[in-house]
Amino acid sequence: MDITRRKALQKLSTGTASAAAVGLTTIALPGEAHASDEVKVAPKNAVSMLYDTTRCVGCKSCVAACAEANQLKPDTSLSGGLHQAPPDLNAFTKNIIKLYKPAATNSAYSYVKQQCMHCVDPTCVAGCSFFALTKNQDTGIVSWNGSKCMGCRYCEISCPFHVPKFEWMGMNPKVVKCEFCQERLAAGKQPACTNVCPTHAVIFGTREQLLAEAKKRVAEHPGKYYQDRVYGDSDAGGTQVLYLSHVPFEKIGLPEMGNESVPSKYMKWQRKLYSYLVVPTVLYVTMVGVIRGNWKEHKHHMEEEQKKTGLRPQL
Ligand code: SF4
Ligand code: SF4
Ligand code: SF4
Repeated sequence: MDITRRKALQKLSTGTASAAAVGLTTIALPGEAHASDEVKVAPKNAVSMLYDTTRCVGCKSCVAACAEANQLKPDTSLSGGLHQAPPDLNAFTKNIIKLYKPAATNSAYSYVKQQCMHCVDPTCVAGCSFFALTKNQDTGIVSWNGSKCMGCRYCEISCPFHVPKFEWMGMNPKVVKCEFCQERLAAGKQPACTNVCPTHAVIFGTREQLLAEAKKRVAEHPGKYYQDRVYGDSDAGGTQVLYLSHVPFEKIGLPEMGNESVPSKYMKWQRKLYSYLVVPTVLYVTMVGVIRGNWKEHKHHMEEEQKKTGLRPQL
């Protein structure tokens, strides 16, 4: 659907029926993509990244390469201006390496790379009422369109991986997140982060290829990887960034969310609530409460008038 920022503002300001419908029925997710129970699958040639914690040495070459390729300013907030040291994803950082260090000294530590997961069924896309976030039908890349974005930051709140970051500074703020180095891909290059990794801890390919590679590593080294499984194969409905980890996934910021995507779960609950008439009942009870309140106030006012004037009012 073609909705520009201007058109969306016009719609909101004139209070058209469609805008009202958006407000009433899509408080959380517009759900256009979830009109049916269809389970989303990644496009056949979906691009992908596979990150293996056992190969990462924490050199942060991928962080620097990402910043350079995306013309992001160095984040020196933690280093007094001397060294690029972003503490988390932010408006200057689309890719970050963090360290998981357990309290027990004899337990395994791990580095972890974080960026947009390019979910198969992204909550940010389903949640954006203005279609500013879209998933490419061929590559599966989730990208942001500034001309449609209203700056509501719903994507930032709804993303289960806490990825999109709002650029607070600047006159025309952007929503910042990894977009898989689309310009590099268009020029026949691979994403910057995957291009520089000295240990091949992060590699680039199609999702099909990398899922097969990850499963092969698991099969060849039973017990090496947590739960002998690939995170992102089906987690949260599947992601295009896949992980192999030697420490529990939740310790490195990969939550256990089951195999169903958030938009799919949400739509099921919404259908249930409507089918059991919960939402209409709540609206009806609220409406009756407001009417009763107004009626009592009106009656009281009329009784006071009768006392003053002696005239019996018509309620
Ligand atoms: S990780 Fe978050 S921002 Fe990225 S596609 Fe998934 S929901 Fe969207
Ligand atoms: S694909 Fe590009 S934008 Fe995304 S993390 Fe890698 S270098 Fe950064
Ligand atoms: S470049 Fe490779 S080894 Fe270095 S921090 Fe990034 S993923 Fe890890």
